[in-house]
Amino acid sequence: MKFYNLKDESQVVSFETAVKTGLGRNQGLFFPKKIEALNNITQLLDAPVHERNFAILKPFVKESINDQDLAEIIRTTFSFPAKLQAVNDKEYCLELFHGPTLAFKDFGANFMANCLQNFADDKPITILTATSGDTGAAVAHAFHGLTNIQVVILFPKGKISELQQKMFTTLGDNIHTIAIDGSFDDCQQLVKQSFDHQELVQQVGLNSANSINISRLLAQVCYYFDAVAQLPKAQRNELVVAVPSGNFGNLCAGIIAKLLGLPIKRFIASTNLNDTVPRYLQTGDWLPKATIATMSNAMDVSKPNNWPRIEYLMDTEQFARDALTGGAIDEAQTAETVKQLYAQGYLSEPHAAIAYEGLHQSLQPEETGIFLGTAHPAKFKSTVEEILNIELPLPPELASCAEKTDLAHSMAANFDALKTFLVNLK
Ligand SMILES: *Cc1c(COP(=O)(O)O)cnc(C)c1O
Repeated sequence: MKFYNLKDESQVVSFETAVKTGLGRNQGLFFPKKIEALNNITQLLDAPVHERNFAILKPFVKESINDQDLAEIIRTTFSFPAKLQAVNDKEYCLELFHGPTLAFKDFGANFMANCLQNFADDKPITILTATSGDTGAAVAHAFHGLTNIQVVILFPKGKISELQQKMFTTLGDNIHTIAIDGSFDDCQQLVKQSFDHQELVQQVGLNSANSINISRLLAQVCYYFDAVAQLPKAQRNELVVAVPSGNFGNLCAGIIAKLLGLPIKRFIASTNLNDTVPRYLQTGDWLPKATIATMSNAMDVSKPNNWPRIEYLMDTEQFARDALTGGAIDEAQTAETVKQLYAQGYLSEPHAAIAYEGLHQSLQPEETGIFLGTAHPAKFKSTVEEILNIELPLPPELASCAEKTDLAHSMAANFDALKTFLVNLK
């Protein structure tokens, strides 16, 4: 399959080039022109997970990765489960937090790291990425120790929890972390500026591991199939999926799964107070506001960078506009929902709770709902403890890095300072 630059259709690249360059000319995102449905969905849903993922991914990557390597990449990437957990008889959580950094981003980051290693030649690569929380940890762990790849992670100073931060600032070696004086959007802006600087891009072999990288999205398509495969057959017909959304990569992956033929009737885009998309879906006006800090901080994004891909699928009528609605959940309601879920015997955290609330408000009697659990409750330990008035044990993945030294640098939100840092890395 070929990948087109959504801002300049004359730029057409292979999967390998799309993964290696991240963004196209004019900051355009790479995307397939047309997503063709697979024709053996029932059979695929009955297949073992690695076999199914191979069938899903092969059409996208086959010009760049041979079958044997793809099978190996899939074995290493999908080494932990996506578990469907019933909250009640018609609402399920797809738990995506059983990987090494306890967040769904482990799927995409691992797949991207494994693909890049497969493509590796002697040219150095510098991964530059911005994180509002979980991306940093997932990318750092996925790339830690790879040869000839330096990783630079920008994060907004003081806006993510200490534990979250320590999951990526304590690794060292080829993992470099920078606390930026500013918001997550400032960090994303610095990344974009760097990619606009052609000389810098060439000099350090700049690549982004953000969810704009098509490899991350494609890996995420797989677990939507896994969710339906785990659902009782009688509940697969009127299926609604709610996605807690920040940059809208996860939702975009779900929509791709639907276009491939997965029986999902409609989607709900659930956000926190950063509600650019829900307002847009209601009014047709794209009016981002200043980013607001919330307790679901991995979703504190007001200019979601994956939205143009979803817009493209709607514009080209591959995906019907009325199959997506939005909902914004405020802080009080988020806390209330964490409590309601707990009362149903399900321990959750703010991101999943936002998805659940969006689903619950909209689910019709004949429908079955799945909401995505994007982070382990212990990743948001103090928030969850405060809301529920309980004590949560720290899982071993978190306990081990709590003791380690924070190695992060500090920097103003200044492009020249960042450029100097990148050029002098070794
Ligand atoms: C990144 C993240 C999200 C948002 O996912 P997008 O693909 O950016 O929309 C939601 N929840 C958690 C816990 C995350 O880390």
